[in-house]
Amino acid sequence: MPEIPTPTHFSSSGGYLINPHLYDINNLTVLTQQRLDPWPWSRGWVHAMGVAIFLAGWIFIFSLFHLHDIYVDSRRLRTSLANNTKHHRIRGSVDNRTVYDRLATHLRQFTYLRSKKWRLASVSLGSALLVIAGFGYPMLYIFTQFPYYRLHYWWGPPGISGRAGMMGVATVPFIVALGMKANLVSVVTGVGHERLNMFHRWLGYLALVLGIIHAIPFFVQRTKEEGMEGVRVMFASNIVYWNGVASLVLLAWLCGASIPWFRRLAYEFFAYTHMVVGIAFIGCMIWHCANMLSSWSYLFAALGIWGACGLYRIFVKTNLVRGGILKGDRATFSKLSDDGVKITIPTKMKWKPGQHVFIRVPGISWTDNHPFTIASVMKAENLVAKTDRHSSGRATPEEESYNDVVIVFKPFKGFTRKAFELSRKFPDLTLECFLDGPYGGLPRPLEAFDTVLLIAGGSGITPVVAHLQDLCRKMKTGAALTRDVRIVWTVKRFQSLEWFKDEIAAASRMLPPGTVHVQYFITQEVAVQLPEGPVSATRQWPGEVKFPTEPPSPYANSPDAPYARPPRSPPPAYPPPVHTLPTVEEEAAQRLSIYTCATAPSRPVSYVFNRHDVKSSHLSLPPLDTRQSISPVPNFGDDVMIEFGRPLLRTGLRPWAQSFGKRTCVYVCGPEAMKVDVTNAVAGLQRDVWAVEGREEVFLHTETFGY
Ligand SMILES: Cc1cc2nc3c(=O)[nH]c(=O)nc-3n(C[C@H](O)[C@H](O)[C@H](O)COP(=O)(O)OP(=O)(O)OC[C@H]3O[C@@H](n4cnc5c(N)ncnc54)[C@H](O)[C@@H]3O)c2cc1C
Repeated sequence: MPEIPTPTHFSSSGGYLINPHLYDINNLTVLTQQRLDPWPWSRGWVHAMGVAIFLAGWIFIFSLFHLHDIYVDSRRLRTSLANNTKHHRIRGSVDNRTVYDRLATHLRQFTYLRSKKWRLASVSLGSALLVIAGFGYPMLYIFTQFPYYRLHYWWGPPGISGRAGMMGVATVPFIVALGMKANLVSVVTGVGHERLNMFHRWLGYLALVLGIIHAIPFFVQRTKEEGMEGVRVMFASNIVYWNGVASLVLLAWLCGASIPWFRRLAYEFFAYTHMVVGIAFIGCMIWHCANMLSSWSYLFAALGIWGACGLYRIFVKTNLVRGGILKGDRATFSKLSDDGVKITIPTKMKWKPGQHVFIRVPGISWTDNHPFTIASVMKAENLVAKTDRHSSGRATPEEESYNDVVIVFKPFKGFTRKAFELSRKFPDLTLECFLDGPYGGLPRPLEAFDTVLLIAGGSGITPVVAHLQDLCRKMKTGAALTRDVRIVWTVKRFQSLEWFKDEIAAASRMLPPGTVHVQYFITQEVAVQLPEGPVSATRQWPGEVKFPTEPPSPYANSPDAPYARPPRSPPPAYPPPVHTLPTVEEEAAQRLSIYTCATAPSRPVSYVFNRHDVKSSHLSLPPLDTRQSISPVPNFGDDVMIEFGRPLLRTGLRPWAQSFGKRTCVYVCGPEAMKVDVTNAVAGLQRDVWAVEGREEVFLHTETFGY
């Protein structure tokens, strides 16, 4: 019968000793064994340090990428824009494809890829590889070192448990850091918290796996040596086994509840319990680890990160205390067509296009706090630094610092459904709200790209509208290198276009005709009457050759702006498009263009009515009795084309790419299937970047409306 330690067995730090025999200086066998062991228990901190360096190393690498992008984009903008004004020429060329560009092109060819299979649509191959590496390194480290067990449990914890346990402890501060909304990792890598959340989750799963690998050998060894009685004695002898199991149970809860299926059941319940259980888990771990080896450094670091980010969020990001305790902003709810809801909030908060904000409306629910992308941009005068305004002698009126945050959404079951009902019952209702943000956004400036392609599905248009407004403003004032902007917006019903068609038209009219191309796709309705001389964007755009070597914004500051035509174009930098035989999908796209309506602007001749999910390649006129609503096609403005059916994004981007500029940004925000098509198409386009001399990059950004 083994000796049951009494509470007098304390470690130097004051915690209970897990295995007091290890510290028994009178036990010569143990002492000898400890001396001979190349990896004595006391060196366990090395396992943790390895994981910390591994994870911090990845963050460091992505920070370097981010710094590189910041440097290249700002240098490109500075050099090109300065060289277009006579007096400030800057030496140096920005037109070369660098080694970094070449490397990035090769990597993007496969890291951008996604699959619709096995519910993996939300994960790119690059992210999946990072997760695999994250699991691969600890598993190899743990299982390729021997022995797994010591000869007797008296001689120390099983080696495999020591390695797994310490590695698990080292993941905790990284899990916390990756999960915060006000996120330190976002600051250094430029990746928003909503995208880091996936790594937060997977690192949590890894910690759970490591915790299980840590725990099981203790049971196995005791059972082998002393049977179930040994396990009973083990639990009776030391609280450390109890708080160890408690930590594991809490971690299992955190991981299980964060599986998307469970989260969807009750998001608010998940969010609040996640925070409470998370803190309980760290508390339990502090108790369990009893300051052994370097464990407390990691656990207190985790608490420190949680506290610092939380306080920063409360005091800087939210208006819970800013501008007076619990004095929020006023949110006006209005009704949009096709079940849309628009909330407008005049606020002093500052944001960048593409960023999102969390909104809490106590009048609807105190507990609900939901993220929505801001679909508006700040007023131009509020973007000017305060000092500039004051030095210009103009006082800043109080209203000037206010900007309208506009958010738009469709109803689901919870908060959005209640907001929808309110907007219908009480038009222009105003309620107090608390904003928390802004967060996220695009890590690179769109204006540093020659061509910008913005693709949206449904309410994914919100960041696109904000980016478009900002970009057009910069192009108009000559602060952008962008020469060519294209927008694809896919909606189910025609009425949804009402949400932002005016904003899109107004933004594109800031620039000369032909600069901003807008293409709307309506997927669940078809045209019954073809307009005279239908125009198909799908067939005509690829034939257009752009000239990316043109100096940026030659028409900026022109007296005739915004409608001034650009000066004569220089000779084309790229070869004209080669016409080859169309593929089956291209033919389908052409059939789609011919049989459906792509109306020329300002010709209100087309009518629409509902039809269920029309597949692009099987379009036919629906029977008349399915007709539900009729609405004339309104005037959408210049360079706007409408097609009925789904855009063939997977194959359709390639012909467009022939006229891409040197550096192109493809931005997509929409349903997963759309993202998969676009990301795979952009991965395929990397080969073109490689093949066409003078082309430097096609960068992809996918915006996420969920975790
Ligand atoms: C960064 C970001 C930006 C977004 N921007 C927009 C936008 O501009 N327009 C738009 O229509 N939608 C946007 N969404 C989605 C929007 O936040 C959810 O649709 C909304 O929170 C659902 O609320 P609900 O209570 O009505 O949903 P429920 O019916 O309860 O759930 C519907 C879905 O929304 C998810 N969800 C619920 N609450 C939250 C929450 N607090 N945080 C994250 N997901 C949640 C659930 O997991 C579920 O999948 C965005 C989401 C994110 C993460």
